Amino acid sequence: MMLKTPPQIHIETFGCQMNESDSELVRAMLKQEGFVFTEDRERADVVLVNTCAIRENAHKKIYVHLSELRAVKKQRPLVVGVLGCMAQNLKSELAQKEPLIDVLAGPDSYRQLPSLLTTALNAQEQGLAQKGFALDLSEYETYEGILPDRNDGVNAWITVMRGCDNFCSFCVVPYTRGRERSRDPEAILLEARDAAARGFKQITLLGQNVNSYRHEEWDFAKLISAVADQPGIERVRFTSPHPKDFPPSLIEAIASHPKICKHIHLPLQAGSDRILELMARTYTAADYLALVERIRLTIPGIVLTTDIICGFCSESDEDFQATVRLVEQAQLDSAYIFKYSERKNTIAARKYVDDVPDQVKGLRVSRLVEIQRAITADRNRRYIGKDVEILVEGDATRSSTQGMGKTDGNITVVWDKITGHAEPGTLVTKHIVDASAATLYGA
Ligand code: SF4
Repeated sequence: MMLKTPPQIHIETFGCQMNESDSELVRAMLKQEGFVFTEDRERADVVLVNTCAIRENAHKKIYVHLSELRAVKKQRPLVVGVLGCMAQNLKSELAQKEPLIDVLAGPDSYRQLPSLLTTALNAQEQGLAQKGFALDLSEYETYEGILPDRNDGVNAWITVMRGCDNFCSFCVVPYTRGRERSRDPEAILLEARDAAARGFKQITLLGQNVNSYRHEEWDFAKLISAVADQPGIERVRFTSPHPKDFPPSLIEAIASHPKICKHIHLPLQAGSDRILELMARTYTAADYLALVERIRLTIPGIVLTTDIICGFCSESDEDFQATVRLVEQAQLDSAYIFKYSERKNTIAARKYVDDVPDQVKGLRVSRLVEIQRAITADRNRRYIGKDVEILVEGDATRSSTQGMGKTDGNITVVWDKITGHAEPGTLVTKHIVDASAATLYGA
């Protein structure tokens, strides 16, 4: 049955850029079917929560959010839909635990959302509660033919592949996003041209492991170069590659194409070979360091960032010291450092014991953050006295009297607007006068 007035949807997105990109697809699909979107949760008939399952903290945030929605739903009619990795991972267990949920849809099932929401809204109108779940994983779904309804800004996300076949033992992604599928390069280029026509200046190509991208004779190096060749696009970024199979052709493409940003996010995860093996990462600490050296030799000035997990199952002090040594040796530009948290259904949850006490995990994270912070501050100080090109993004988070943008290496630069106004989306050159571990200061 059709709905009388177009229902208003409010969508909230948690987690990684892939979820941001998926929310843009969901918006496009629902708008096509006559739904309208509102930024104001108070006016919404439907609240969709696009969730993340990567760490326990992500789950906690979403449970807090659902408890807020429970209070709203007590006061007025509201359909609540939970999307994304947490929905896919916990399935009906989540719906049982949180009875306010009307709709659950996993990352491969978003095409079913219009009918699931229509059914839930119609049932609600008749005073009934009808729950709808769409949680099948697909080997083929890449959402071809749907142009995302993008958030404003200078950057457009483009998903180039979905899923992951790597099965790192700690990671839930292969279970929540299914098998690897690469999108047709022509569809990706069409999206890039559309984004350029709408005024986006930067494209970020997304995949769980972009180095596995394959479509007939296309690999990721060829794809990113073709995207960077599109007129109107000033910068192209990508995330994430896996260190196990970083191809020389991609290093060459980054080195030689002026529009491919000189920044690589290269997840390390641990510096102990024993832990890397338990994590099923399929490289050693020496392999990682050799790759860093190869990249730096071919792309001078490259900015390298990473992810590290502290306190994985059975990680000893000695293992942790190996990570500290690697971090000190590699001198990467920055790192996201997290406590290990066991994820349901992963290989680690089935085979290993999460036996490092939480307090020890916390101490290791603090120690490593402190070490990396000093390295980052030191590396950032190298920019003092230099002119750097910045893509302007808007106002600084802390003050509207300051402008903010990013270097090619994705480092945040702020400057007093009084020293020169620049529109978002423009490339400007700033002289760096100071630096901290988080920010460069331009004049
Ligand atoms: S490469 Fe490993 S960590 Fe990354 S998404 Fe795949 S399984 Fe998870």
